[in-house]
Amino acid sequence: MIIKQFVLSPFQQNTRVAACEETGKAICIDPGEESTELVDYIRDNTFELQAITLTHGHLDHVGGVTFLHTAFPDAEIILHKDDEVLYYGLPQQPLFMGIQPHQMKALGFDFTTPPKLSRNWINGEIYALGNLRFKILHCPGHTPGHVILAEEKERKVFVGDCLFESSIGRTDLPGGSLEQLMRSINENILSLGDDFMVYSGHGCETTVGRERAVNPFLNGSYQSERGSFL
Ligand SMILES: [Zn+2]
Ligand SMILES: [Zn+2]
Repeated sequence: MIIKQFVLSPFQQNTRVAACEETGKAICIDPGEESTELVDYIRDNTFELQAITLTHGHLDHVGGVTFLHTAFPDAEIILHKDDEVLYYGLPQQPLFMGIQPHQMKALGFDFTTPPKLSRNWINGEIYALGNLRFKILHCPGHTPGHVILAEEKERKVFVGDCLFESSIGRTDLPGGSLEQLMRSINENILSLGDDFMVYSGHGCETTVGRERAVNPFLNGSYQSERGSFL
C-alpha cells in the first residue's frame, strides 16, 4: 500500500491518499480542506481515485470533499449513515465550535453543502481497493457514525479521531460519548493486534501496541470526561 499524507486545515488534520501499488487504484481518506496539492498528487501519479472514504463527518475531515469530487467526479463518496446529519450540515458546523457567522469567511469556514453521498458504510463490510481489502468497523463515540478502515494483511488501520498517539478523540461535541468511544477502541482497535500501524486523523503515526502500553487513556493512568482534538 502506498500512503501519502497531507496535513491540512487550521486543525492540522491528516488527509491521506492510500493506493494499491499493483493496480493504481486509490482512495482519499478524509479530505480536510480544498487542496490543489492533493489533486495534483493523484493526477501526477495517475492513480484512479475510486472513492472519497470518510471516517466521520466533522468539518476538518470533510471540508475538502466538494473540491476533490469536482476534480474526480467518478469517485464514490462513502460515509456511515449516522454521520449524515453532520455531513449535510457542514455549513452549520462552525457554529457548534463557537465561530460566529460573520467570522466564517475570514477563517475559511464558509462551507457549502457537500455533494450527495454515493452510499453508506456497512459495519463489517470488506472494502476492496485493487488488491487491498479494508475491513470497515463502526466505532461510535467521537461521533455517532465514525468508522475505521483496517487492512489486515498489511497490518495498517486508519482510525480517524478515535485514537491518537497518547490520546483519544474528544467526546464533548454533539453526539459524542466517552463510554461508547472506550468500547469502540477496546473492541475494534486494540483487538486488531499490537503490530498494527495506526494512522490517526491528527498527529503522528503510532502502533496498537504502543498505545496499549503508554496511552494514559488506555493503560488506566488517566481518566477524563474529555479527550483531545476535534
Ligand atoms: Zn479531526
Ligand atoms: Zn472529529
